[in-house]
Amino acid sequence: MKALGIACVTFVLVVATAAATAGADSFPHGTIVDLSYAYDAETIFWPTEDGFKLEREHAEVTEQGYYYAANKFCTPEHGGTHIDAPRHFNAEGKTVDALPLEQLIGDAVVVDVSAAVAVARDYQVRVPDLRTWESAHGRIPRHAIVLLLTGFGKRWPDRASYLGTDERGADAVAKLHFPGLHPDAARWLVSEREVKAVGIDTASIDYGQSTSFQTHVTLFAQGVPAFENVANLDRLPARGATVIALPMKIRGGSGGPLRIVAILPS
Ligand SMILES: [Zn+2]
Repeated sequence: MKALGIACVTFVLVVATAAATAGADSFPHGTIVDLSYAYDAETIFWPTEDGFKLEREHAEVTEQGYYYAANKFCTPEHGGTHIDAPRHFNAEGKTVDALPLEQLIGDAVVVDVSAAVAVARDYQVRVPDLRTWESAHGRIPRHAIVLLLTGFGKRWPDRASYLGTDERGADAVAKLHFPGLHPDAARWLVSEREVKAVGIDTASIDYGQSTSFQTHVTLFAQGVPAFENVANLDRLPARGATVIALPMKIRGGSGGPLRIVAILPS
C-alpha cells in the first residue's frame, strides 16, 4: 500500500509537470457536446440539391483473411451541419481551406430566441435581441463565435417541419419558412462586436423567405464565416463554452461538411 501511495504521488507530479510544460492550463476541460448531425440519406440539404450519397465499395472478409470496409461518398458542400466560407457569396472571399484555424475556435455566445420563433417561424434576429442578451449576460466579447438558438433543432430531420416544405426543386425555395439573422444584426455583430463567426440551428443564416441573402453578403464581405444546421445548441450555456469548428479542408471550396463541438465550462 505504501509503495502504491508513493507511485501515485510520483504520477501526479509527473502529470502536473507535463501539463504545465504543454501549456495545458489554457486548454478548456469539460463536457464535450457534439454540435454536428451525422451525414446519411436523411440529412437535410437545400431543396435544389441532391442529398448525401454513400456508396459501399467493400465490407467483407478478404481472401487473405482480414476484414476490409471502404465506402465512397458524394455530397454538395452546403447541407447537413456545414460551414459557409466567405467565397460562398463573395468572389474575393476566402475559400474554406484558407480560413485561419484561429477564426474557427473561440468563445461561444448562445443567443436564445426560441420564444420569439415559437410564435413567428419567419423570425429574424435583430440588434435588440442581441442587446437583450447583453443586458442579461454582459457585452458580447470581441472575437466571439455567436450561435443563434432558434429551437428549430428539435424539428430535425423532419424536412417539412424544419424547412417549411418537403418539396424539392427550384419552386420549393419560395416555400421555405424558418428563422434567420437579420442583415442589420449581421452588420452590427461584425462592425460593433468583431465576431469571428456566426452559427444557427436552421438551414441558412438568412431566414427562409429571403430572396437577396443580404446576411450572407454582409458577413462574407467582412470575411466572417457562417455555420448552418448546427445541432444541440440547447445544451450550451449562454456563455462560457468554447467552440471548435473544423470543416473538411476542400481546396477552393465555398463551404463544406463541418465537425463542430463545444466544450462546456467545468
Ligand atoms: Zn451553406
